[in-house]
Amino acid sequence: MSSSPQNPRTLRFSLAAAGRVLYSSLPNGGRVTTIETDVLVIGSGLAGLMCALRLGRESGVFLASKSDLSESNTRYAQGGIACVISAEDSIESHVQDTLSTGGGLCREDVVRAIIGAGPAHVQALEALGISFKRRMEDEEAYDLGQEGGHSHRRVLHAGDITGQELIRVLLEEVGKIPAVTMRPHLMAIDLVTTGWLGLPGENRCLGAYFLDRDTGEILAVRARATVLATGGAGKVYLYTSNPDGATGDGMALAWRAGLPILNMEFVQFHPTCLYHPQAKSFLISEAVRGEGGRLINSAGESFIERADPRGSLAPRDIVARAIDHEMKTRGDPCVYLDITRKSVRFLKDRFPTLYKTCHQFGIDMAADPIPVVPAAHYFCGGVQAGIDGATAMPGLYAIGETACTGLHGANRLASNSLLEALVCSTRAAQTLLENPGASAPPRVAIPDWRPGDAVPSDEAVVVEHNWNEVRTCMWDYVGIVRTNKRLERALRRIQNIRREIKTYYHSYLVNADLLELRNIAAVAECIIRCAMQRQESRGLHYSLDAPTPDRLHPAHDTLLQDPPGGPVSAMDALERQGV
Ligand SMILES: Cc1cc2nc3c(=O)[nH]c(=O)nc-3n(C[C@H](O)[C@H](O)[C@H](O)COP(=O)(O)OP(=O)(O)OC[C@H]3O[C@@H](n4cnc5c(N)ncnc54)[C@H](O)[C@@H]3O)c2cc1C
Repeated sequence: MSSSPQNPRTLRFSLAAAGRVLYSSLPNGGRVTTIETDVLVIGSGLAGLMCALRLGRESGVFLASKSDLSESNTRYAQGGIACVISAEDSIESHVQDTLSTGGGLCREDVVRAIIGAGPAHVQALEALGISFKRRMEDEEAYDLGQEGGHSHRRVLHAGDITGQELIRVLLEEVGKIPAVTMRPHLMAIDLVTTGWLGLPGENRCLGAYFLDRDTGEILAVRARATVLATGGAGKVYLYTSNPDGATGDGMALAWRAGLPILNMEFVQFHPTCLYHPQAKSFLISEAVRGEGGRLINSAGESFIERADPRGSLAPRDIVARAIDHEMKTRGDPCVYLDITRKSVRFLKDRFPTLYKTCHQFGIDMAADPIPVVPAAHYFCGGVQAGIDGATAMPGLYAIGETACTGLHGANRLASNSLLEALVCSTRAAQTLLENPGASAPPRVAIPDWRPGDAVPSDEAVVVEHNWNEVRTCMWDYVGIVRTNKRLERALRRIQNIRREIKTYYHSYLVNADLLELRNIAAVAECIIRCAMQRQESRGLHYSLDAPTPDRLHPAHDTLLQDPPGGPVSAMDALERQGV
């Protein structure tokens, strides 16, 4: 069917260089608008924007993001990008720090490739207009930050708004490329694959279904290649440093499509989120400890040294566990980060946003220790992918925090994640440009979205209740310290909730809250099942039942791969459509 010129949305899309409209649509069901593009990029964080930027000069790109384009985990990154710049530092030293933090599970070839590529990629960022901070006393030298686990100062930053700067510059640059169409408020629901359509041959990705959050309509995008750049999943936990959209959508989409998912038990808890009733997810950067901030308990005593001689500069997992232990033993709701030894001038210059935000909450960083608690921060696991984002499914790529490349192993070295997103997004774009026709999808129509008997929901309270239940259950039973019994209890609860969500999903028209709930519950189950597979403590996974690494067997990844439509990954969207 041809596109309808009467439909203003259709008209808007037809004008877009990257997307050609094939069908018109009806609200939340019926005929879907299908947009044709060369490469579909899902997500507008560092990974998605950089990939679109590198592709867009030579290829048509449709970039969809579920919130405003500037919203992502990237935007909140404060510390910076780890990269070897100083003459006193070396690639080998950065490699060794990464391997040693990774608890024996990093892939050394991946570590060497990503870290080795760092300096050139950082230069490329500077060429785009990102300016990393220089020293006050010497404008020629970078002001390099020091973070836990790094043996040298090597974190490039733009004050404490590094992420904001990256997004600002990249949005501006991508916005200049006519071949890239960027669409906010389009939320990917599920991948469309040939296997799902029952086509013979290898299972490959054809694109994805989207919910237009502004109109409630369902769209489809058909693409030669689909790039998942949907970020992390901090919202699976009650307390998190992540913004609201970090619901693990890409991981859940890929899992439902039958892709291998790795190492989901390795959730990094940031040791220091601001503890204040009105502060939502506000992170106190690790760089504060790098500048001499000391963790103390409510009695004013240092306590991290009992767990690690490096004290407040020990890697995050050790610090977070020590804080958790201190809070539980003393019955305190938080601990404190004391940087009062630094002057107001220094703090205002080095941490302008932190200083201002703390001040808004009545805390003077130069005079008062800052109340802090640990919170879910970063996912080392995700969709199994190569450095160029290639996944097990032809036509599907995963980059950034959604992917698991093997860089982080069992624990991420601070500020290595922006570096990974930067390098892997560029490599993915290179691969796609070098093989333009390598994986042309079959010319099949994406089926219409059939809502069945679904009606608008009049029970939003059920969604809200289940959101809270998933997050509380994960915080209480699958948090910083785990046991077999807690994991079993959590699995039972999450599977029950998933059954309830499935019924709900079939009964009501989809909206963003329901889709995100479905995804956090799926990711929660992935985390628990990976944690149950790991009968040892390693890196970020700590179990009281097996408190040391298993030295009898070689270190191994945990792997989940359920066939699409299998007992756990049953693809609800398909069932809903009666396929
Ligand atoms: C507070 C904070 C501070 C941090 N500080 C640092 C630091 O200093 N250094 C460092 O290296 N790392 C840091 N990190 C981690 C780092 O920011 C992230 O790992 C990295 O930015 C991930 O980039 P990304 O592009 O993969 O994902 P993101 O930046 O999270 O982008 C994901 C994008 O996908 C979109 N999206 C998600 N689901 C869907 C869907 N279903 N449909 C459409 N769009 C979707 C989102 O809206 C978003 O635009 C920090 C993280 C946080 C939360």
